[in-house]
Amino acid sequence: KFKDQVVIVTGSSSGIGKACAIHFANQGAHVVVNYSSNAEEGQNTLDEILSNGGSGILVKADVSREEEVLAMFRETINKFGKLDVLVSNAGLQKDSPFLEMTLQQWQKVIDVNLTGMFLTCRAAARQFVSQVENATEPSHSELSIGKIILMSSVHDVIPWAGHVNYAASKGGIMMFMKSISQELAPHKIRVNSVSPGAIKTPINKEVWSDPNKYNDLLNLIPYKRIGTPQDVAKAVAWLASDDSDYVNGETLYIDGGMTLYPEFADNG
Ligand code: NAD
Repeated sequence: KFKDQVVIVTGSSSGIGKACAIHFANQGAHVVVNYSSNAEEGQNTLDEILSNGGSGILVKADVSREEEVLAMFRETINKFGKLDVLVSNAGLQKDSPFLEMTLQQWQKVIDVNLTGMFLTCRAAARQFVSQVENATEPSHSELSIGKIILMSSVHDVIPWAGHVNYAASKGGIMMFMKSISQELAPHKIRVNSVSPGAIKTPINKEVWSDPNKYNDLLNLIPYKRIGTPQDVAKAVAWLASDDSDYVNGETLYIDGGMTLYPEFADNG
């Protein structure tokens, strides 16, 4: 489905980003695997892609640093000559009760989760526009010329005490995504978000590795199972494909029903 398309997945050394990178590569894409600090994990993702017969490169870049983001896009274009899809996935948590939250904890999460989206989406949008401007012959296709998928969270609508920096960053992604989607649509660039619920990755290991916390978590999920990174990767791939060509500015919740107010289910 993505044969010869070029896809950047930020934060693909682990978890959901890793599953997305492998999923796109398995469907024929050239994938840019990005990591910020753990080179070994990034290499593991790339090795898995290559051993499945796929194509990709590994690029170190902190998405909150403008010069590193620009360098990652330059390296992508130097290697593959174009870009088709950006999956802006990198994100982290720095949890703290609000009364004790430091400016550093607040700033780090906003820098990576929100400013990182701004920097990567702007770079991708500029690249998509320049590809059209520099095309040798005009395209007669009605389909979008570039796709951006942002990794949000159910916490773009569910408030989360003890994680206000994270919830604020994801709520910010919602309006950022909708606004750039409105602005970029005339260029035939589609922008959508995916909002996962509880997905089994290193970010929440402390919850799923503890049987009591795991059971409490299941009470929040009507579908009664924790999600897998592949559940999210398949939805991301659909939003990046021409099958969703008329979907623009939307948030797709991949959450087993977590946003359905499950506590009301047993309330008579
Ligand atoms: P993870 O910790 O396994 O992966 C996070 C990835 O982001 C890693 O590859 C990490 O290296 C990368 N990263 C962190 N800071 C970075 C930076 N400055 N520059 C570049 N990369 C950086 O966690 P995950 O669960 O796979 O999370 C991926 C995304 O999914 C995040 O945006 C997270 O908020 C979101 N999400 C996860 C869940 C869940 O339940 N796991 C739920 C909702 C949303």
